[in-house]
Amino acid sequence: MFGTLYIVATPIGNLEDITPRALRILKEVDLIAAEDTRHTRKLLTHFDIHTPLTSFFQANERMKVDAILGQLRDGKNIALVSDAGTPCISDPGYPLLRAAVEAEIKVVPIPGPSAVATAISAAGLPTDRFTFVGFLPDKPGKRIHALEELRDISHTLLFYVSPWKVEKILADCLSVFGDRDACLARELTKMHEEFRRGKLSELVESLKMKMTKGEMVLVIDGKK
Ligand code: SAM
Repeated sequence: MFGTLYIVATPIGNLEDITPRALRILKEVDLIAAEDTRHTRKLLTHFDIHTPLTSFFQANERMKVDAILGQLRDGKNIALVSDAGTPCISDPGYPLLRAAVEAEIKVVPIPGPSAVATAISAAGLPTDRFTFVGFLPDKPGKRIHALEELRDISHTLLFYVSPWKVEKILADCLSVFGDRDACLARELTKMHEEFRRGKLSELVESLKMKMTKGEMVLVIDGKK
C-alpha cells in the first residue's frame, strides 16, 4: 500500500488559523516535508508536535522529489507544508504534487489559509471572478509586458508583492492599467493588518507619505 501525500495549509500570520485537522495530520504523518525546517519547527513546537522534518525548498525540490516519492511508495504518509499559507501556491511543491499524481499516489489537501483567498475576501473589489497572477517578473521590461497581457481582463486581478518592490509595481500598474480602484492588503491576520483602498494613483501617493513594510497582496479592479 502506498502512503498518502497531504498538502497542508498553515497560518499566514495568526497561529489561531491552523485547523484541528491540520494539527492532527501533522501529528500523525511519518514525515513533514517543509520549505524551511527551522520555520516549521517553531510552528510544531508551539503545538507540541514532534514529527520528523525534512527540507523541501525551491532549490532542492527536483532532487527531493524522488526521495519523497520513494518513501510514499514504501507506505509512508507525508505532509507537505510551506512557510505560510497553502503549499504549491507561489510556493514549492508542484513538482512533488505532479509526480505523486502521475504515480497514482493518493493526494489529500488539508485546506486552510492562503493570502490570495484572504485578500479577495475583504478587499472590497468584485469577488465573482478573479485572476490570481502571483509574483510579477523582477525585470522591469518583463513586468510591463506581463501587465500588458492582463490589461484587457475585465475581472479582479490579484498579485503577490514584496515590500521592497511595491512602489515600482504600483507605478507600473498605474501606467499600464490607468487609474483603477485597488486595495493593498497588508500583514493579513497579523497585528498590523491593513486594507489600504483607493485609486492606484492614491496608493502610489500614500506610499510616498508613509513607508510600507510587511507582506502584501495587491488587488486591482478589472477593465471597465
Ligand atoms: N503559499 C502562500 C499562500 O498560500 O498564500 C504564499 C507564499 S508566497 C512565497 C508569499 C507571498 O504571499 C508574500 O510575498 C505576500 O505577497 C503573500 N502573503 C503571505 N502572507 C501574507 C500576509 N499575512 N499578508 C499579506 N500577504 C501575504
